[in-house]
This record gives sequence, C-alpha cells and structure tokens, in this order.
Amino acid sequence: MEPSKDTTPRRLPTDYPEWVCCDCGKRYGRRSPTYATWHQGECEICGLTKTVTEPRDFGHLKNGWHFLALESMALEVVRCAGSGDQSFVECLHGDDDSTKRLRSAIVSLTEILKTAF
Ligand SMILES: [Zn+2]
Repeated sequence: MEPSKDTTPRRLPTDYPEWVCCDCGKRYGRRSPTYATWHQGECEICGLTKTVTEPRDFGHLKNGWHFLALESMALEVVRCAGSGDQSFVECLHGDDDSTKRLRSAIVSLTEILKTAF
C-alpha cells in the first residue's frame, strides 16, 4: 500500500503533482489531452478545487514546470499588490511607516518584475 498523500500539508508546488486541473494542464503540460478521466478534486499546482486529471493526460508536465508555476504565483501577487489591491494581505493594511515602506517596496518590485519577464 502506498503512503497516503492526503496527510501531506500543501506547500509550494515543487513535488510532481498527482492531479492537475485543466487550466494548469494546458499551461504546464506538453499537449492537449485526448483521453482524460476527470473528477472533482484539488489541483496540486494552483490549489483550487476543480475538475482534475492526471498529468500524464497532458503528456506530462514540461521541464521546469514548477518554476513557471512559482513565477505565475509571484506575478499574480505582485500584480494585485502593484495595482493597489493589497486587501488580500492582512499585514499590508497598516498606516505606519514600516507598512508604507513595505507597500512602496512592492510597487518597486512590480516595476522590476515587469522588465524581468
Ligand atoms: Zn490548477
């Protein structure tokens, strides 16, 4: 019997996922699925509960898929923060000097990342 993966806490997507959703499969997979058996479950790349299938249905994931996944997560955070939508980060709500500095650091980071990617 294989050890259960259900007890493993969710972390950054560095382990090869057992289940991926359609969006992540299209983004990180090598091809479109011809045969896939979908079921409702948690995508191990984006963490959302959607219809998922095995990565092999997408011809398996591209090399470096987890860097791509991390990049897109980082970009999403920076995009929200840079556009002033910082409500999703509780600790960015403060009006004190250090929080203001942190906010402006995030805005500079957005500019840097815009040119980096
Ligand atoms: Zn996904």
